Amino acid sequence: MPTALITGVTGQDGAYLSRFLLERGYRVVGLVRRSASSDVMAERLRWLGIVDRVELVDANLLDLSSLIRVIQTAEPDEVYNLAAQSFVAASWQQPILTGTITGIGAVNVMEAIRLVRPQVRFYQASSSEMFGRVQEPVQSERTPFYPRSPYACAKLYAHSMTVNYRESFGMHASSGILFNHESPLRGIEFVTRKITDGVARIKLGLTRHLELGNLDASRDWGHAQDYVAAMWTMLQQDTPDDYVIATGRTMTVRDFCSLAFAHVKLEADEHVRLSNDLVRPAEVNLLLGDPTKARDVLGWTPRTSLESMVAEMVDADLARHRARMAA
Ligand code: GDP
Repeated sequence: MPTALITGVTGQDGAYLSRFLLERGYRVVGLVRRSASSDVMAERLRWLGIVDRVELVDANLLDLSSLIRVIQTAEPDEVYNLAAQSFVAASWQQPILTGTITGIGAVNVMEAIRLVRPQVRFYQASSSEMFGRVQEPVQSERTPFYPRSPYACAKLYAHSMTVNYRESFGMHASSGILFNHESPLRGIEFVTRKITDGVARIKLGLTRHLELGNLDASRDWGHAQDYVAAMWTMLQQDTPDDYVIATGRTMTVRDFCSLAFAHVKLEADEHVRLSNDLVRPAEVNLLLGDPTKARDVLGWTPRTSLESMVAEMVDADLARHRARMAA
């Protein structure tokens, strides 16, 4: 039975990846920070019905010795580094923390692997935010990076170090440059989930308005469930490499909003309010990925349409709020 170690196991991607690997007969070990609220922490694993099947171990990305200990004891074949301070807007408020966790944290994981178990196959969660002020209308593995936030700068450092560890030490280290990926398990601070949660609350009469920032930003939004399959497939290749994972379709926040409101037969214009406080110091206006390499080399293609994902997310938020109201 192969063993996978996942950092960030309690996040959206960690939960979907755990389920994906469990279905394929893996033993899944998830790394968690010690926290008083461990119950809330495992909420996503519980939602997917797998909380009892993932072994949670305490360690911290900023404590190299704790990572060494976990890799020594868990003896993983594959390590997926999904842990990060991942919310772009918060990265201006906490740039050093973001750099430390999202950037240095990734290098700590690679160092622990190099020192203890160099044969491990390593996956680094890179991000389309690294393209930032995009240098090409459609972004591929060859597009130059231009990060536009402390988060993106930290991710670019981790990405570059992944390439460097592969080239310097021959490590099987791959990096997935994932464009935005959403699901009912997306954190509420991200715009898609904020919208679907807002739509559900408005539909149920719990509130009347939804406050948003820049509606003109465009993103290439896929489904997290499809994207975790790409992570695994990268590590099954003989040769480690970097891949853009995207749908190849982009949509504005405004149009995403319209879709979500239309799903419950409401008009976005009647409920959305603009707030300058939600506009970022520097914006990434447009992201649109070219997943050709992933399709050709990995045989990966996205399966879920944006429309069905929006419906799934709105329905899940309606169900959550109805359950809360009934309780
Ligand atoms: P990101 O692409 O990783 O930054 O993902 P987000 O979901 O946080 O943001 C996507 C886009 O939506 C960005 O261009 C934001 O500026 C824009 N946006 C507009 N209003 C909001 C909002 O209220 N919250 C968030 N998170 N983003 C917003």
